[in-house]
Amino acid sequence: MNIPVLNCSSCAACANICSCSAISMQLNADGFYRPVIDAEKCVECGACERACPWNKSVENPNVADVSPKTVAAYAKDEAVRLQSSSGGIFTVLAERILDDGGVVVGVAQTAPTRFGHIVVDNKADVAKLRGSKYVQADVGLVYREVRSLLKTGRKVLFSGTPCQVAGLYAVLGNAATSADLFTVDVVCHGSPSVKVFEKYVAEIENDKSALVKSTRFRDKRNGWKLYSMTSSLSTISGDCFQISETLRENRFMRVFLQNICLNTSCADCHYGKLPRIADITLGDYWNIAQFHPEMDDDKGISVVLLNTAHGLSLFKSVEGKLSVCASKVEKAIAGNLCIVRSSQQHPKRTMFFTNLNKYTLNQLITMYCPPPSFAKRMYYRVRGMLGRIKRKLLNWFIIEC
Ligand SMILES: Cc1cc2nc3c(=O)[nH]c(=O)nc-3n(C[C@H](O)[C@H](O)[C@H](O)COP(=O)(O)OP(=O)(O)OC[C@H]3O[C@@H](n4cnc5c(N)ncnc54)[C@H](O)[C@@H]3O)c2cc1C
Repeated sequence: MNIPVLNCSSCAACANICSCSAISMQLNADGFYRPVIDAEKCVECGACERACPWNKSVENPNVADVSPKTVAAYAKDEAVRLQSSSGGIFTVLAERILDDGGVVVGVAQTAPTRFGHIVVDNKADVAKLRGSKYVQADVGLVYREVRSLLKTGRKVLFSGTPCQVAGLYAVLGNAATSADLFTVDVVCHGSPSVKVFEKYVAEIENDKSALVKSTRFRDKRNGWKLYSMTSSLSTISGDCFQISETLRENRFMRVFLQNICLNTSCADCHYGKLPRIADITLGDYWNIAQFHPEMDDDKGISVVLLNTAHGLSLFKSVEGKLSVCASKVEKAIAGNLCIVRSSQQHPKRTMFFTNLNKYTLNQLITMYCPPPSFAKRMYYRVRGMLGRIKRKLLNWFIIEC
């Protein structure tokens, strides 16, 4: 069967569509989920090839706008906002669907080093989905579950990366047009390797002689902009403690943000662009200070793209629970290029994975992602200044025209 294993987004559409259950998603040597076909069960019907969103382009059936209505927003509920990665919009949307008797699908921690899609039907469990987990998620057979739930007439809010939303549509086919289905995609920088995260956890467990129980990838104890990664550990005698490091100090965040441990397909993402694949896109409004300084309190502001009329209607129904400021997609893009294009792959990614078993993460960072030299820092500073001037001019142009 011709399903792309090398440039595979791990969306698992093939595994979900296979009526013979001949495909399972298994971690490859680098720690990314890949389809593995059981030749005994495969009847070569070709359904997996036809469903693959990397073989054939998938579109939002509700027709997404190339220039979507865009807002900066955050949840009025301060506790929700502080527990969320950005402005907490996801939780507000999820609770709305639950109030209507629907279910919410998103990514939860399923084991100390594993993350995957689950279905929740009550508000307490939305906490499991809250917060970004910067590790590739195991989709499992969740698209099939969504198909069954839609058949029973329940509302479903599905959330995930753009490639996962595309995978869902590919499996649903005509059912994707159901008025009961709402989709949310996150602005995605890329999907990091499960193996790299496992290595990180093993290293801190070794350093601290304790077991990691859970991880918060976007802890706001030092603010939203300088977020921290916090792990909760427990010793054999049952003592619990936390270690927390900012994104600049933490070795896992450093390799993630340098694009050296992302899935290969992330460098050529077919769905992280305009028009967006989902009804609503959520991301961080990083340059909020530049365009809407009155909102910038460093507690988390989301950029919300309302890509379809269907998404807009859901958003309108929760507006009372949000602080909202009208914006423009061009403004959000100026501070968040992942809205429109893929992250560039690190030039030493192959070397990094070749040597992953040989060296510690700190050694790998020294070898492949060293801090820039003085000359390079100066170059970046001047480039940053020129970029800021360019953005100011762009801002002026957007406002004046
Ligand atoms: C791998 C990844 C990379 C990202 N990169 C960027 C970026 O470059 N720029 C940017 O602006 N925003 C990025 N985001 C999105 C951002 O971090 C927030 O998730 C988003 O703004 C929603 O925030 P919130 O406060 O509304 O809700 P939150 O409660 O913080 O977000 C929860 C949502 O994230 C989903 N989610 C969590 N982990 C995963 C996962 N591993 N795979 C798929 N879905 C997941 C949940 O299903 C839920 O929908 C990324 C998210 C992920 C998961």
